[in-house]
Amino acid sequence: MYKKNAWSKYNDQEMKKLMTFCEDYKDFLSTCKTERECVKYSVELIEKLGFKNINSLKSLKAGDKVYAVNRDKNICVFVIGDEPIENGLNVLGAHIDSPRIDIKQNPLYESEGYAMLDAHYYGGIVKYQWVTIRLAIHGVVCKKDGKIVNVCIGENPDDPVLVITDLLPHLAAEKMQKSGDKVIEGEDLDITVGSMGLDGEEKESVKKAILKLLKEFYDIDEEDFVSAELEIVPEGKARDLGLDRSMILGYGHDDRVCAYTSLRAVLDAGKCKRTTCAFLVDKEEVGSIGATGAHSTWFQNVLAELINLQNGNYNDLMLRRALTNTYMLSSDVSAAYDPLYRGVFEKNNACFLGSGITFNKYTGARGKSGCNDAMPEYMAKIRKIMDDNNINYQTAELGKVDVGGGGTIAYIMGNQNMNVIDAGVPVLSMHAPQEAVSKADVYEAYMGYIAFIKEA
Ligand code: MN
Ligand code: MN
Repeated sequence: MYKKNAWSKYNDQEMKKLMTFCEDYKDFLSTCKTERECVKYSVELIEKLGFKNINSLKSLKAGDKVYAVNRDKNICVFVIGDEPIENGLNVLGAHIDSPRIDIKQNPLYESEGYAMLDAHYYGGIVKYQWVTIRLAIHGVVCKKDGKIVNVCIGENPDDPVLVITDLLPHLAAEKMQKSGDKVIEGEDLDITVGSMGLDGEEKESVKKAILKLLKEFYDIDEEDFVSAELEIVPEGKARDLGLDRSMILGYGHDDRVCAYTSLRAVLDAGKCKRTTCAFLVDKEEVGSIGATGAHSTWFQNVLAELINLQNGNYNDLMLRRALTNTYMLSSDVSAAYDPLYRGVFEKNNACFLGSGITFNKYTGARGKSGCNDAMPEYMAKIRKIMDDNNINYQTAELGKVDVGGGGTIAYIMGNQNMNVIDAGVPVLSMHAPQEAVSKADVYEAYMGYIAFIKEA
């Protein structure tokens, strides 16, 4: 069964709104290729709209627009509602980390006249997709004196780019016998960064030349890599995809497409009955662990601060009640049905590009292992909100039973006794260097998120 297509319902005015929104999203996706860049972009956007850091506040009242940032890698944006926070919030939670290749701690080496960076991939990548494509390097280098050097090379059209080389087909007969997971191995994802020696006779002269450049442009010494967070990502801007421009091709839709639509929903919905929140989190692709992942107590800490600001005091019971009474959408992408790989999908329970925001009642693997199986009562409430607001929505599973599996942050927030369900945008070629989404789905997710935070 093919789902109802969203495109046919837009009049000229809606279509213009949709396209304008997608241009804004393309700018976000093109600019933000690391968690830190997402947080920085979000802070700049919301401060222009009058949002204040909660650290600068003495009290809170309905209609206040506030935010909190955790270690430059998470952000929570709130519009305070008419009801007390203890009554619960309406939260949109998305992740802003994406699969990529990280630079190791001791990365720079020279091999037969090439300077190379040793790397360690982050998240679930198909390794053979990352060779021979233009790459950029984004991140920070933290110096011993406390200075943080921002690095971004490869995005400006005049910048050099980086690459991971691959074997020519003429000599690849033996390599082509290997299975897909072995054809490019983890340790072979090293990045070529130079080939020009200072002096042909000198030992490691190519590496020394690169170090000289790093010193000159960034004041970085080789030891500074130890305290760096450098991410190798595909270079270039997000682009319209298809002759009809109906889709967007770009790096990191998972999950920045849901992060941006969630953030904009909170900004554009204005003051609601309940306090609304966009929660953008790190480390989802590696298990949501650590201080900046969804498992961190940070979200609860921020709620505790809000309760304190709203009431002039704080007690634990207020926080527990707030969590129990919270409605959340785990805003994360779904695997879109791909006619080239129809065998892995079960058509009646798959999502299709252009058919709208997708709800996953559960994810997980095998017998739903590791999933957050959302309450049907909660799904019924959300169905009503989507229908009442003429939102195109569909439901999906991640592929056929026993073919594979996956997870999101839904169960982690569910563990805090919130009502949670996964809801997001269908993606083609998920986790590949270039992923594809439908503009209609981006817009339906944005409108669906607005309806949810206003009415849940
Ligand atoms: Mn995701
Ligand atoms: Mn993912």
